[in-house]
This record gives sequence, structure tokens and C-alpha cells, in this order.
Amino acid sequence: MEDCIFCRIIKNEIPSQKVHETPTIVAFRDIHPVSPTHILILPKKHIPSVSESSAVDQSLLGELILTAKALASENGLEDYRLVINNGEGAGQTVFHLHVHLLSGRFFSWPPG
Ligand code: 5GP
Ligand code: ZN
Repeated sequence: MEDCIFCRIIKNEIPSQKVHETPTIVAFRDIHPVSPTHILILPKKHIPSVSESSAVDQSLLGELILTAKALASENGLEDYRLVINNGEGAGQTVFHLHVHLLSGRFFSWPPG
């Protein structure tokens, strides 16, 4: 996807602070962090959103959460929030599926 900003980051056409990379997954720091730790974890495969994922993505979707867990552990984070926004009305602005790993401050519940 030539016009997808995250696909361009994956291809290193746009710089980012990558913290993790495997053949299937990449993770980098959010450009506008909303918490002291704010890492985005995404599949290299261009899946626009959770809504547009399917059973063939089952293992990839599992990898995203296990990667978030591993990154949290590596960074000594005990409390953290994982967020996936699905659709504009839920706050999704980049249509390449990603998990936000947020930590380092208190998060209220329910979210605003
Ligand atoms: P969404 O709103 O789609 O759930 O999350 C998109 C996230 O991507 C936002 O938190 C936004 O700050 C981040 N973002 C958008 N453009 C870039 C970029 O070029 N580089 C990085 N590192 N993060 C970006
Ligand atoms: Zn993409």
C-alpha cells in the first residue's frame, strides 16, 4: 500500500524509532505519545483494521498481543493498557491495524 504511512515506515521510507522487528511484526514509538511509554505494534501485512481482518490472520493477531506483552516485560512495565481503535468513530486515524502499548501513567476507566 503505497499511500499507507505505516507501510512506508515498515519499508524505512519514513524514519521511525523502531524498538522491535521480526519477519511479520514491527514496533516503533508513537510520534505523539499520550503516555511516557507509547509504542505501536503492527503486522507488516497491510490489514486496514480489525474489522477487515479474518481467520487467516489469527496467528498474526495473536503475535501482536504477545509482542506487546514481551515489550512491556522488557521495559519493566507491570501496568499497561493495550488499545486498538477500530474505525474513525473509535479514534482510528491510520488505517493499518496496530496495537497501542501505553504505560507510565494512570489510566482511568471507563475511557473518555
Ligand atoms: P490511531 O489513531 O489510528 O489508533 O493511531 C495512530 C497513531 O499513529 C497515533 O497515535 C499517531 O500519533 C501515530 N502516528 C501517525 N503518524 C505517525 C508517524 O509518521 N510516525 C509515528 N511514529 N507515529 C505516527
Ligand atoms: Zn499499511
